[in-house]
Amino acid sequence: MSELNIDWANLKFGYMPTDYNVRCYFRNGAWGEIEVSSEESINIHMAATCLHYGQEAFEGLKAYRCKDGKIRIFRMEANAERLQSTCRGILMPELSTEKFCEMVKKVVKLNERFIPPYESGASLYIRPLLIGTGAQVGVHPANEYLFVIFVTPVGPYFKGGFFANPYVVIREYDRSAPLGTGIYKVGGNYAASLLANKKAHDLGYACEFYLDAKEKKYIDEAGAANFFGIKNNTYITPKSTSILPSITNKSLMQLAEDLGLKVERRQIPIEELETMEEAGACGTAAVISPISKIDDLEMNKSYVISKDGKPGPISKKLYDKLRGIQYGEEPDVHGWVTVLD
Ligand SMILES: *Cc1c(COP(=O)(O)O)cnc(C)c1O
Repeated sequence: MSELNIDWANLKFGYMPTDYNVRCYFRNGAWGEIEVSSEESINIHMAATCLHYGQEAFEGLKAYRCKDGKIRIFRMEANAERLQSTCRGILMPELSTEKFCEMVKKVVKLNERFIPPYESGASLYIRPLLIGTGAQVGVHPANEYLFVIFVTPVGPYFKGGFFANPYVVIREYDRSAPLGTGIYKVGGNYAASLLANKKAHDLGYACEFYLDAKEKKYIDEAGAANFFGIKNNTYITPKSTSILPSITNKSLMQLAEDLGLKVERRQIPIEELETMEEAGACGTAAVISPISKIDDLEMNKSYVISKDGKPGPISKKLYDKLRGIQYGEEPDVHGWVTVLD
């Protein structure tokens, strides 16, 4: 393995070519053998259903090089199961948890030299992708699919410390409908979010914030991250049919319970932000991105959560605990971590 000349600590969340990706094709009603490729492009039919009718699903998870020198992958079985749920949602063939995990481990091992060193705070982002490749002109599910996993090193989310960010409620666009595809990790939801995301950035906010599409009353989620709030020693997160079930959020709910907090999954009226002691957005990229304030411009409201821009003590505790488990520095009592051998 040759040495790489990469400034790990200053990597962004972007694409960098690595040595290999792994692929598997679904043809004639069955998934084939796992293939290793060093090609960055894929060759597909111009009438492939992923290009016209959005038969596309993806996942996102990370591998970490740890202080003890080992490589750990966080909750990949949960990603496999979520992908299966997405497949049922948009009529694509499901890939077994076993095959998914075998491919994740394989692609991480094959690209071992791209896993950033422990000290850098950077990690290896793993991007599984499942697309309909069979040609269709009418609106039907494809009969052929391609599952690919590529990896790319990504920088630490927080440079210069763990700080809180401002968010803005976007009322003029919806990301997903109450009975739509918001609960599945599909590209279409992201296409639907690009305008709102651009608007939030143009206004100087870190990210857009969505309310439920039907009543515009309850909190849904923040861009590509789930929401949680903390008050009265309780971890509160939205119950909604239009948000993506975040594995980070699920893990934080468990850790909150372990820390002796009450956990509530319920509708959260936007006005309840007034009483939140802490709030954060959570997802694989940042684990927790604390929220300093949420502005609801149309309603002339600004919900300030953290005046000094610092994360609250419980958010910090949850963050440290989850990072500790991911890096093998805290006991993995829930069996969330795979150590590569
Ligand atoms: C991926 C994603 C999340 C975060 O999920 P994690 O499993 O925690 O990374 C949250 N919201 C949306 C819309 C997402 O696509």
